[in-house]
Amino acid sequence: ARPGGCVSRTTETHCPYCSLQCGMAVTAGARPATLVPLDFPTNRGGLCSKGWSSAELLDHPERLLRPLVRAVPGDRTSPLVETTWDDALDRVVAAIRATQQVHGRDAVGCFGGGSLTNEQAYQFGKFARVALRTSAIDYNGRFCMSSAAGAANRAFGLDRGLPFPLSDVAEADVVVLVGSNPADTMPPAMQWFDAGRERGAQHVVVDPRRTATARNAALHLQPLPGTDLALANGLLHIAIAEGLVDEAYVAARTTGFDAVRAGVAGYWPDRVERLTGVPVADQRRTVFALARADKAMVLTARGAEQHRNGTDTAQAWINLALALGLPGRRGSGWGTVTGQGNGQGGREHGQKADQLPGYRSLADPAARAHVAAVWGVDPDDLPLPGRSAFELLDALGSDGGVRTLLVLASNVAVSAPDARRVISRLRGLDFLAVSDFFLSETAELADVVLPSAMWAEEAGTMTNLEGRVIRRRRALDPPAGVRDDLQLLAELAGRLGVGERFSGDPETVFEELRRASAGGTADYSGISYRRIDEERGVFWPCPATEDRAAPHPGTPRLFTERFATPDGRARFLRVEHADAAERPDADYPHVLTTGRVLAQYQSGTQTRRSRSLQLVAPTPRAELHPDLAAALGVANDDVVELATRRGRARFHAQVTDAIRPDVVFVPFHWGGGASANALTGADALDPVSKMPPFKVCAVAVTRVSGP
Ligand code: SF4
Repeated sequence: ARPGGCVSRTTETHCPYCSLQCGMAVTAGARPATLVPLDFPTNRGGLCSKGWSSAELLDHPERLLRPLVRAVPGDRTSPLVETTWDDALDRVVAAIRATQQVHGRDAVGCFGGGSLTNEQAYQFGKFARVALRTSAIDYNGRFCMSSAAGAANRAFGLDRGLPFPLSDVAEADVVVLVGSNPADTMPPAMQWFDAGRERGAQHVVVDPRRTATARNAALHLQPLPGTDLALANGLLHIAIAEGLVDEAYVAARTTGFDAVRAGVAGYWPDRVERLTGVPVADQRRTVFALARADKAMVLTARGAEQHRNGTDTAQAWINLALALGLPGRRGSGWGTVTGQGNGQGGREHGQKADQLPGYRSLADPAARAHVAAVWGVDPDDLPLPGRSAFELLDALGSDGGVRTLLVLASNVAVSAPDARRVISRLRGLDFLAVSDFFLSETAELADVVLPSAMWAEEAGTMTNLEGRVIRRRRALDPPAGVRDDLQLLAELAGRLGVGERFSGDPETVFEELRRASAGGTADYSGISYRRIDEERGVFWPCPATEDRAAPHPGTPRLFTERFATPDGRARFLRVEHADAAERPDADYPHVLTTGRVLAQYQSGTQTRRSRSLQLVAPTPRAELHPDLAAALGVANDDVVELATRRGRARFHAQVTDAIRPDVVFVPFHWGGGASANALTGADALDPVSKMPPFKVCAVAVTRVSGP
């Protein structure tokens, strides 16, 4: 079914999974396609098991190769049956028209993903605003990077995950990793940490679990989930008390420190030990190590950020880094470790509810005028900001909510919090269309399923965790019957009467994206496919120059001279500890936290179908400390049921002393009866980022049976 499959050719591209975007060369022709790692600047010849196995899925027998529709239109209990693209697209457009005619434009919604290319993310945002003229669009990055992004925008005026190249990690004498486990999530990145350690660098890991990353650290702090903000404030309290603050840096490069100084006065070390469980001696060791290092950095990730106060928690660590004079110095600073493959680019080009390309605000009149001019529309015709991801999902099917939804590259039935509630909302829709490679748990609920091209079959750009814009190159032709999401959007736009505004060609879309981003914080206007090829990636911001002979070099290191705020100074902001929305009680006496395992990726739509990865991680396991297991009468491998106020799920127990005795951990890559997100909650969203509290809720554990 795959055309042109006999001539062998090798193409340099990147792994389809995480934000490290490891370089790889894919050889297509003979089936299956094969791959080898490349010496790209982030992975330098390394790949993890996910990357090595990625080509397996291109010819997977469960791959969707034809559009699917319900045998009885409108009846989702009837089976999905194959149809033509014309029929499938006609049904989607008919549903859009019918819904908007009866319920208004905002009753049609779009939900995107952080694995879409920059071009697809850009085109999806434009499709919503220009073709559908709806405000209802958001994406799954809201559940991933939004708290760190909110904090960085507030503090620095700009959000780029790492404001420096990953290689700077090897130069740092001290690295504090907060809620981040790269040894499992992106193992090739560990070579930069290892290089630092080999020349004597000290690493401190802050994590309730003794992860693979924590095992190699000089110091492991094990706070109670949800108390990272208190810990950061406590470390700053010590820094102030011990005279470790870089007063000259604070005076020259920041504003707002006096309020923060007053705010952390109450976070005395023994109070912080009571709140977090981190001993005073370890708090002091961490602060002194950070302050005395020539080069030091603090890196946060989802463990610190996926909370009801995730934005303030990231801000607390930024406050500490600023007080010690770290951001803007080579080999130093604060950064956040992005998760999804295009988690960075996915939040820059306009698929967020409140955003236009170039990381511009949809509420800003100047931004609306600029982007409207590029799109050839009246700025007044652009919708206003819509609901954030969970709010959009929770209102599906309701009066005033979305009634027809188009989902690209996202499996919210597994990845959204309070997943059973989200599934029931999806069932309440008038019409659901899903584009995916496989019949994901979300696609199973759809009226129309559109088979999309996989990573090696499509072209475009991605932006990695460092803000380096790279090329995803087409290594082989997609199977007949499969289309990439740019083509899909162009076809839909054509049927909606605006096809001339929507190209299906990635480079044409990128050229428009460049113009739309010009002058924004994420300025790509000086980047071209040719430059990316020649320079092995270009760091944004990279504005176009008048003199073509003197192009802007791109910006590997941000903030060396000034921050991206109007006055050029970074902003301290006073932030306060708040208890988690759910605390253990008599009914739900333990703390549940969720996370990842090495051999699975995100909602598992792809990796759960990989035979080699399934051998390593076939089922999710609930980690319990031996003390808790003994109290519950649970032995290793027993089946346990976890119950929260939202639902129940069953797992085999993994009894391990690598976790706090009061915490239970489950990975979130599975759905059905082992869905971690059937347990998590979403009633307390972060007020800035609208991040749900994935990382802490109250849980009861019951032994069900033996292994
Ligand atoms: Fe590299 Fe991430 Fe792919 Fe692993 S999943 S090979 S770390 S890009």
